[in-house]
Amino acid sequence: MSHRAWIGLGSNLDHPRRQVLSALEDLAGLPLTKLSACSSLYGSRPVGPQDQPDFVNAVAVLDTRLSPLALLDQLQALEQRHRRVRKRHWGPRTLDLDLLLYDDRVLDLPRLVVPHPWLAERAFVVQPMLEIAPELCLPNGQPLNRLSAAAPSNDLKRLSL
Ligand code: AMP
Repeated sequence: MSHRAWIGLGSNLDHPRRQVLSALEDLAGLPLTKLSACSSLYGSRPVGPQDQPDFVNAVAVLDTRLSPLALLDQLQALEQRHRRVRKRHWGPRTLDLDLLLYDDRVLDLPRLVVPHPWLAERAFVVQPMLEIAPELCLPNGQPLNRLSAAAPSNDLKRLSL
C-alpha cells in the first residue's frame, strides 16, 4: 500500500540551489517511491546563527511504500551522499532532509518524530506545503493555512528558476 510522505529540503552550502534540485531528483529515484509533487524553491534567512549564508528550501510529496523508518534511512543516506557538512547545531549544512508528514500518522520514536516538531513554526516549510496543498490539515485536524507560520514572512521569498 502506498503512503503519502511530505519531505522538507534545505541547503545553505556548496551551491544550495543545485543541492536542492539534485536532491529532488534523488528523491524521485528512491526505491518503492514516486515523486508526486514539489514546490517552488524558496530563499530564507537562517534560523539561529546569522553569520551563515541564506537557505534554499523546498518541499516534496512522495508516494511511497517504504515504512517511515525505512524512508528516514533513505533520507539520511541521501544527506550523506550530498557530503553533508554540519559543524554546529543550526549551523550551515549542504543538505537537510526532514520527514514532515507521513499520511496522518503521529510517531514519537527515538529516531523519528512525525509530524516534524518544527513544522508548524517554520514559514519555509509551511509556505511551500501550502503552495502544493492549500487545504492541507495536520493529523490533529489543524488547517495549515491557519498556522502563524502561514503569515507572509519578510525573509521568505519564492525564487525564480
Ligand atoms: P536535523 O539534522 O536537525 O534535521 O536532525 C536530525 C536528527 O533528527 C536525526 O537524528 C533524526 O533521527 C532525527 N529526527 C527526528 N524526527 C525526524 C524527522 N521527522 N525527520 C528527520 N529527522 C528526524
